[in-house]
Amino acid sequence: MSFQEDLLAWFDQSAREMPWRDSRDPYAIWVSEIMLQQTQVATVVPYFERFMHAFPTVFALAAAPQEKVLKRWEGLGYYSRARNLQRGAQLVVSAYGGKIPRSLEEILKVPGIGPYSAGAILSIAFGLPVPAIDGNVIRVFSRLDTLRHAFDSAQPRRALSERVAALIPPERAGDFNQALMELGALVCKPRQPLCTDCPVQVHCQAYAEGQPEQYPYKGKKTQVKTLLLDVAVIQDGQGRVLLQQQTQKGIFKGLWCLPWRVAEAAAESQLAGQSLCWGESMTVIEHVLTHRRLQMQVRSARWQGANGPDLVWVNAAQNQDYAVPVAHQKILDFVRAHPLLFEMYTQA
Ligand code: SF4
Repeated sequence: MSFQEDLLAWFDQSAREMPWRDSRDPYAIWVSEIMLQQTQVATVVPYFERFMHAFPTVFALAAAPQEKVLKRWEGLGYYSRARNLQRGAQLVVSAYGGKIPRSLEEILKVPGIGPYSAGAILSIAFGLPVPAIDGNVIRVFSRLDTLRHAFDSAQPRRALSERVAALIPPERAGDFNQALMELGALVCKPRQPLCTDCPVQVHCQAYAEGQPEQYPYKGKKTQVKTLLLDVAVIQDGQGRVLLQQQTQKGIFKGLWCLPWRVAEAAAESQLAGQSLCWGESMTVIEHVLTHRRLQMQVRSARWQGANGPDLVWVNAAQNQDYAVPVAHQKILDFVRAHPLLFEMYTQA
């Protein structure tokens, strides 16, 4: 049997159920593909269902307040995905009458849709034979073809894209792309691939060589940088904490955080630093992002500034309205678990 036949026969038997899998609604597929970037399927499922319930159409998403969109995204991380998804929805409504474009050239103009998402949406929703190259597909083909180069530039991606495009069966484009991703996620895993159960084992050169884990070839490793931050826990007499909306460019833009500053730059103070009286350090909480490790020194503090539109006092246990990134949610959980620690700094 051909590679395509082996792969699709396995996919027909083994594909996991996912709430977006039976859908041909390009908007639903778009949302699912954006959520699935950097995030596991099991984590995405409940977020997807809640998000689609809140914003069932591209029109609903385009018209929603950004605050509400970020709140529905809270906990998934990589919030720029949510902001871009909404900007994309707004463009689809204003420029395309709410219809997601069917051509590769047009769909790539939509914010947040890159070559991978474009391929996934066009093939799954519209059945077009456009490849969708993600990390799973790179790994699978690096092993199938024993590719001894990294995929950190445009040229090898283009070559792989052409290789996959030539394999796509026109009548099952969407299934083929999904089958490749599923194979990478379930069988051809980064470590200890399940070669003995692999439906395309007879087509695989790395298996024949006996060392599949040598692929994909790793380029230079990206350094994970450690950032030391001071984070302020400011409470009022009613057990509420002060959150500040992040208005500056950065990964938390639009979200609500405890006031913070870069520890090394404490003298210059960031964000609300001018109006903050920093107290002692209570603990250090760590949070790891893709290329950064945040070491957050949690300090009690008092607020001496005026209230403003970017500041809000919230009861963290009942916060339904303000999207807080996971890093700061961890601190709020710590504060809730240690109420007495911060009590003496409570503001009148
Ligand atoms: S045989 Fe092993 S290495 Fe090759 S594609 Fe299958 S799981 Fe991956």
